[in-house]
Amino acid sequence: MNIILLGPPGAGKGTQARMLVEKHGMVQLSTGDMLRAAKDSGSEMGKQVADIMARGDLVTDEIVIGLIAEQLDNGADESGAIYDGFPRTLGQADALGELLSSRGSKLDAVVEMRVDDEAVVRRISGRFTCGGCGEVYHDDTKRPAKPDACDNCGANDFKRRADDNAESVRTRLMAYYKETSPLIGYYHAKGLLKSVDGMGDISDVQAEITSALS
Ligand code: ADP
Ligand code: ADP
Ligand code: ZN
Repeated sequence: MNIILLGPPGAGKGTQARMLVEKHGMVQLSTGDMLRAAKDSGSEMGKQVADIMARGDLVTDEIVIGLIAEQLDNGADESGAIYDGFPRTLGQADALGELLSSRGSKLDAVVEMRVDDEAVVRRISGRFTCGGCGEVYHDDTKRPAKPDACDNCGANDFKRRADDNAESVRTRLMAYYKETSPLIGYYHAKGLLKSVDGMGDISDVQAEITSALS
């Protein structure tokens, strides 16, 4: 199964993608994670995207389509993929359709996670992740059982994203409404769209997604 999780920054896409990975053995393809890895590695492309990401603007279609094509070339989607944070523009959506069909594959569903703007800001401002395994936490809604150790891997290496600040969040939300929200109509027209209420707690949203996909 190939699915897209679509929603504004902070909607809970990464959190839900990780749970789907655990449950169904799918892979999570997050262009945000790939871009941050490129930035941390100090590569030319990483340097090129650093300022754009810090501001909260979108990097070029060419770069993110290239990252996804590379993953597919390496067979990353053999047991099904969850696209998290990609596609974010109509150009990326068209490119993904072509990449999949040229490999004899297709999308099965696009899950739109509906979350209001105030919740997005609350979620992003309390977000931190484990540097060891990528587990996603929140100051109010998902704290590790021990304050200084990851529940999942035990590492004591929590990180906060530099772009999780009020100004960048405003820019990212605007980019979502301007560039990404047209994908809702696009996938509706293709008969692939499933909309779920993303406002409940993490397990409620997981149940909604499971039922939307069944
Ligand atoms: P969030 O978790 O807040 O939705 P991501 O981790 O998905 O954010 O993305 C972080 C940043 O990486 C974005 O603000 C943007 O600059 C860049 N980025 C990630 N995915 C894409 C994409 N598909 N197209 C363009 N830019 C992207
Ligand atoms: P995205 O990948 O869409 O940017 P994340 O999965 O990183 O979103 O979630 C953003 C923040 O919100 C994280 O701190 C996460 O722990 C928290 N979060 C995710 N889902 C929920 C939820 N249903 N209710 C409350 N907080 C949530
Ligand atoms: Zn961890």
